[in-house]
This record gives sequence, structure tokens and C-alpha cells, in this order.
Amino acid sequence: MSNIIGFPRIGQNRELKKALEAFWANKIPQSELESVAKALRAKHWALQKDLEYVCVNDFSYYDNVLDLAYALNAKPARFASLSGLEGYFAMARGSKEGVACEMTKWFNTNYHYVVPELSIDDAYKADASNIIAQYNEAKVLGYKPKIALIGVFTFLALSKITKGAPEEIFKKVKSAYFDLIDELITKLGKGIVIEFSEPIFVKGFDAGIFGLECSKGGSTIECIYNNMTEKGVKAIVSTFFEHSNELTEVLLKTSIHGIGLDFIHGAKNKDALESIAKSDKVLYAGVIDGRNIWVADLESKLALLDSIAHVVPKDRIVPSSSCSLLHVPFGKADEGKIEGEILSWLSFASEKITELLVLEDLFKSGGSAESKKFLESNKQINATRKSSTKTNNKAVRDRVKANTLTKRAQDFKARIKIQREELGYPDLATTTIGSFPQTPELRALRQNYKKGAINKAEYEKGIKEYITDCVRFQEEIGLDVLVHGEPERNDMVEYFGEQLEGFVFSQNGWVQSYGSRCVKPPIIFGDVSRPKPMTLEWSQFAQSLTSKIMKGMLTGPVTILNWSFVRDDLSRAEVCEQIALGIADEIDDLQKGGIRIIQVDEAAFKEGYPLRSENIKNYEAYALKCFKLSTAVAESKTQIHTHMCYSEFNDIIKTIEAMDADVISIETARSGNELLKVFKSVGYTNEVGPGVYDIHSPRIPSVEEIKTQIKALLEVLPKEQLWINPDCGLKTRKWEEVKPSLKNMVEATRAFR
Ligand code: GLN
Ligand code: ZN
Repeated sequence: MSNIIGFPRIGQNRELKKALEAFWANKIPQSELESVAKALRAKHWALQKDLEYVCVNDFSYYDNVLDLAYALNAKPARFASLSGLEGYFAMARGSKEGVACEMTKWFNTNYHYVVPELSIDDAYKADASNIIAQYNEAKVLGYKPKIALIGVFTFLALSKITKGAPEEIFKKVKSAYFDLIDELITKLGKGIVIEFSEPIFVKGFDAGIFGLECSKGGSTIECIYNNMTEKGVKAIVSTFFEHSNELTEVLLKTSIHGIGLDFIHGAKNKDALESIAKSDKVLYAGVIDGRNIWVADLESKLALLDSIAHVVPKDRIVPSSSCSLLHVPFGKADEGKIEGEILSWLSFASEKITELLVLEDLFKSGGSAESKKFLESNKQINATRKSSTKTNNKAVRDRVKANTLTKRAQDFKARIKIQREELGYPDLATTTIGSFPQTPELRALRQNYKKGAINKAEYEKGIKEYITDCVRFQEEIGLDVLVHGEPERNDMVEYFGEQLEGFVFSQNGWVQSYGSRCVKPPIIFGDVSRPKPMTLEWSQFAQSLTSKIMKGMLTGPVTILNWSFVRDDLSRAEVCEQIALGIADEIDDLQKGGIRIIQVDEAAFKEGYPLRSENIKNYEAYALKCFKLSTAVAESKTQIHTHMCYSEFNDIIKTIEAMDADVISIETARSGNELLKVFKSVGYTNEVGPGVYDIHSPRIPSVEEIKTQIKALLEVLPKEQLWINPDCGLKTRKWEEVKPSLKNMVEATRAFR
């Protein structure tokens, strides 16, 4: 027996995405969407048939947290008139009745869930029909189903309260949640298996703060999960993405059947083994990485399982995925273009199931002849991966070791004096974050070039025209520091990954980001280096068009790391250092090539923060080091900007300060000057460009509105320290929106000058 926590639902060829988008566009009826979904479930269950159970209810039309909210009728009042799929999608995407619910990142993954809104006015009411239908679907096909359900603590912790006292609301939600379980039991019978996902427990989250009453004494967790058993559920409670030692202890006191722990991203879970051994719980041991795409080293996985079995009896151990396989692509069968050797190192969701089955067989009974053969070939694959020149580039390793250039030559005070003289920009200098609108024509141009439908000269002509238009427009409205507009880039990480050694791109390696949206993260398989300049030509071309300062535009090492699938045979810190040195090379080429301001975007710096506070120090240390490694090469007169797409800096301001960028642009447009105050409070001296308007909305901000915003900023920081810019890149906007918005921004700034 082995186990997975969930399987990716988007489909081998993103069938769900296509069906959803066709349904939203009224091109197919609901019945057709439903039959696509049903076929996908059947296909995914067939792959799981040899596991202990097949996962039911891991499927979702949009998001599992939303599914649960909907099943509890936790529906915001603005959508009260809507029901069925219409109400469901309205919550996810908005409708004429009101705006969509917020979305946010699911723990430290790039998956986004829909944030439930809870109000004391809600009439919670359980409806398990959807889960029941899927369960029966699996039964009819002859499978043994296990229901995947978000645990009530995680659900509550991730929800947002819009009205009322938390304790009252939680009481109501809890009771609806129990009704949901009761309905499942009534319809499906006692003994049903439910795997409750409680990733919130890895935060050492104290369930007691909910103030849920517990009639029988003990903690709320004990109370709720004991209740599940009493109701007749065979309950497994799983935590993942980190260790959950504090709350594992509590779970072990309950009467649940099994506990799932992540031994890949929470190695410290091992500390709980003694207690597990003393309990009667089955341990679902997460040993196959659900967050990464590398072939498992079965020998070391076996050793890990054996070490666990040293403490916990073997017959109470079920090898499992570390988390849902939602975070990896469907399967690698369609990856025709990745070089054979590298392809052999990869393992997507379908392959991970096979790994689990083989591992289980080897672990439990020494393994069939077939499993042993699999193990042998797996050893081979891992051996070649280890020794391959593709993963080991001596020059890169030596350079990382030998590098001593770790910070800029002079401190900010000295640098800014030189920069102000050299660059001569005014106080409240105006600029943008980098990209200009990505028009359909532009996308077509890039695609046609990629497909070979147009040649290099035609492609470059198109890009140059776009850049020229951007420069002319920026000059016309009088911006101080210009950008080239990034027309050559499809994505801020992919563009660099494609030009760096050590990266490979899958053709079909899609991972759900939210709803029907998928991303195809770059895969870092080997040592990273930069064979030749990546942005120099375009930046130089753009600079040649104007006497104003042209800002070079790069993606930072931490962001490249955080948005990729990273090799697991080298520490993330080392991989990041390699990328950093590649970016340093680029910065050096740019400054030598006449580019005087260079922006190093770190959009994903914050999202790399670990879930547990004890790991933050390590992350901050290497992330900071790598940003500095990449920018250390900049001469004092070269001005380094960075950009971060968020606003909450309270916890990380010291690290931001230590990054020592000459200028940082941030997102504050949606919060007035509140978020800027933290910069003042720590005595931040470097220059700051707080976004003065929100680019995420198509609305055009008026001159007055921007003036009000600038006034608010000036209440916090002096004019000498402030830049004026939008709060993020403009690629998702239309020219009709961008042109008047930027014009108004410049006009508002002039009024202050
Ligand atoms: N320079 C990038 C752009 O403007 C930054 C994108 C981002 O912050 N996500 O598109
Ligand atoms: Zn941004």
C-alpha cells in the first residue's frame, strides 16, 4: 500500500483549462464541462489504481478551498442570488453581482486559493452532494476511494472574516463542517476514509485561539478529530511543507486512524517518530517529493523508510507523497524535446506514482523481480545524474568558491553623491517599472519567430519598432528615466532561463497556478552560467534612441530561483549563487556598454520566505547574499534599482535595507502611505519609489488623485529620497490605459516640482 495526497487535475493536455475557458465563453454547455471533468477523474484514478486508495475530491473546477466554502454555503452576500456553478464561478472570478473573492498563495507554493469570506450573517449549510457524486463515480469504476478534504482548522485559518466575532463565526462554520461529515456518513456509510489536509499545523498554529468549545476537555484539535472517529470516519490527518511537531503531539492523542507527515520538506518530523511508535497511528510517510520534478533516488528513499521503520513498526508505515502532486506536471511522456539524459532525471506526477509503488514493494517485501530491476535502473539514472558534466561544471563551481566580490565598493552615501552628479535626475524623478503593454501583435511576432514563420531580421525589426515607439512616447510625456518596454520577453524568468546554461524547458510541464491558469516553470538541472549577454543589445539599442537615461532591466537571482523547479542535488543557496554571478556578468556588460541605471527585479524575494520562523534566518542570509553578489560588480556611478511587487515590508525591512539597492520601487498604491512608514521608522536612507497608482486595475488615475498620493508620500519621506512610478510593470494593461495614466503621473509630479 502506498498513498498520494492528491493528483493534478488540469489534465495531461490541460483539458480542464480548455473546457473551463470554453464554458466561461459560453462556447460549451455545462454538461460538456461536466463530462470533460468526469473523463479526467476516471483517467487519473486509473493511474492510482494500485495505491491504497484513489483520491476523490482532489478534483476541482477552480480550487479546493473554494469547493469547501461552497459546500458549506460560505458564500458572500453579494452572490446570494446565484447558485450552482454560476455562484461558484462568481466567487472565483467575479460577476455582474460583485467582485471576485481575493486569491492568495497556498502556503509557500505558487498555487493560489480563493480566500473564503466569512460573516456572522452567513447561513452556513452543508451540501456534500458534489463529493458524494465523485465518490460514487469512483466506486462504480471499481476503485477504493479516499476523500481528500481540507481540514477545518486550515479552512478557518485561511478565511477572512468580513463581519462578526471570530468565535461566533467559527462555531457556526464548525457545525456546518460536522453536518458535511454527517451527510457523507449517512450517504456513503460508516468507515469512509477521509484524508484531512491540515498544512496550517506546520505553523505551530494554536487551534485554541479559535475558542471553539470542547465539551470533553482537551484541546480543540483533539475534540474535533475525536469527533470524526466517533462519527464513523476513518480519518487520516496530513500536514505538509514543513514539520508539524508541536501539533503532531496533539494529533497523536486523538482517535484518528493515521497521520501524514512530510519527511522531505520537514525532516524534523523525525523527532515525532518515538511518539508515533507509542501510539496506534498509521504513519503516512511523505518520502516522495510532491513539490519537485526530479527522479527519486530510490536507494536513499529506502534508507529513509528503513530509518523510520527503526522506530515505528513497518506494518504501520505507508509510503506517501510529501504533499498533493498538484504542484508538479501530469507526466513526462510528452516531453519529446528534452534531451534524453536530462529527461531520464525527471519524474512528474504519473512517474511519482510508479516510484511510490516500487518503493513500497521494495520496502515491505524486498521487492519483486520487476521492482528490483526498476531499482537497478533507478540507481543508474541517479549515478549518471551525479557524475554528468551537465550537472557539474567545474569552472562554475570554482568561480563560486573563489569569488570575493560580495558587496559594492562604496557605501550608499558615497555612491548616491556620485550618481546624482553623473545622472542629474531631479527630485521626484519619474520612471516606470519596465514593461509596456504586451499587445496581441507583439505576442504574434514572438510566436511567429519561435515557430520559424518569420526570420530573425523580421523579428528584430518588429521589436525595434516597438522599442522605438516606447521611447518616443516616454520622451513625449517627459518621463525622466526611460525603459525599453521588454517586448522581447514572454516572461521575466523564462527569458533569462532560456539564455542561461543549466536550464531546460519542458513542452508540456504545466502546473496549475490558479483556476484555469497554469505556469510552466523553468527547470534548473545543472550548474548555471551565462555564456553571453542576454539583454545588452536591446538596452543599447534603446539607449541609442535617446539622450535621456535608459534603465537596463534584469530579473534578480532570488526570483529566478523561486520561480523555477530547482535541482535537489545542490543546496538552493549554491544554485542561487551561480545565478547571481550570471546576473553580475550581465550588469557588468551593461555598465560597460553605456547603461547607467540597471534594475534588478526581485518580484519573488518575499515569497521564498520559509513557513517556519526558525528557517527564516538561513533564507534571508543566502537571498541577501545573492542579491548583493549580483550587484556588487556595479561601479559607484552605476545606479542599481530593484523592484518588489508587494507592500508588506514590516517583517523584512531590515533585510530589504541590507540589500542596499540605490533605489527600490514597491507597491504602495493601494494603501496610501501606510506601508511606506516602515521605511521611515527604521531610518531607511536609500531612495524609494512607492507606486503612486495601481496598475492591476484598468482605471485611469486622475492628476488630482496622483497628487493626493504624492502628497501623502511626502508626509513620510523627503522629496530627495522619493521616486515617482506606477506600482508594477505595465505589460497586462492596454495602451489606452497606460498613455493617459502616465501622462497624469508626470503632470501630477510637475505640480509638486
Ligand atoms: N520589470 C518587470 C515588468 O515591468 C517587473 C515585473 C514584476 O514585478 N512582476 O514587467
Ligand atoms: Zn511588480
